[in-house]
Amino acid sequence: MNIIIFGPPGAGKGTQSDKIVKDYEMFKLSTGDLLREEIKEQSVLGKKIEEIVNSGKLVSDDIMNTLVDKIVSNKKYQNNIIFDGYPRNLGQAKNLEKILKKNSQKINLVISLKVSLESIVKRITGRLICSKCGATYNEFFNPPPKKVDCCNTRTIKKRDDDSAEVAKKRFNTYQESTEPVLKFYEKMGLLKETAGEKKIGEIYAEITEYINGIQGWL
Ligand code: ADP
Ligand code: ZN
Repeated sequence: MNIIIFGPPGAGKGTQSDKIVKDYEMFKLSTGDLLREEIKEQSVLGKKIEEIVNSGKLVSDDIMNTLVDKIVSNKKYQNNIIFDGYPRNLGQAKNLEKILKKNSQKINLVISLKVSLESIVKRITGRLICSKCGATYNEFFNPPPKKVDCCNTRTIKKRDDDSAEVAKKRFNTYQESTEPVLKFYEKMGLLKETAGEKKIGEIYAEITEYINGIQGWL
């Protein structure tokens, strides 16, 4: 089973996909993480990406395809991937179809988290991330536990770009570029929309119903 999780930045994709990864032992493909890892490895491609990112430009679809192909073609992750924050536009969605087909795989479920801009702004300005393990919390809605293995007051921080201003910009970009992508998957009969304004546990309960539905007929 391969899943895509959609939603504007701050909708709760990371929060929900982390739960799916844990419960269903899936591999989360976050293109942001992929880029950062490639840079860390300092491969030829990694150095190129670093240059582009540092200059403030967007990484090309070509590079993105190469990175996604690397994961999709890896037997270790075959038919067990959750795509978080990718594809971002119709071009990437079509490329993903090609990559999947080449590797005899497909998307089984597309989940779209619908959240209003007002809620997004509240969530984004309260978002806290553990710089060590990547766990996501929220100072208003989902405070970090007092005592856990790695997360503590020194590792849990706000993201530099998590301001109301930036949130609004990202929300608009998301709506413009992702609308056609959602239509694309809707036509394929894969799209499930979820009201992302509910509590984290309630949303997750709905998502597990969708997933279990698929597993039933796989
Ligand atoms: P995304 O990955 O879509 O950008 P995150 O999972 O990082 O979103 O969630 C954004 C912020 O909102 C985080 O601080 C998270 O703890 C909080 N959050 C996530 N889901 C909910 C929810 N259903 N209700 C309230 N806050 C939430
Ligand atoms: Zn941590």
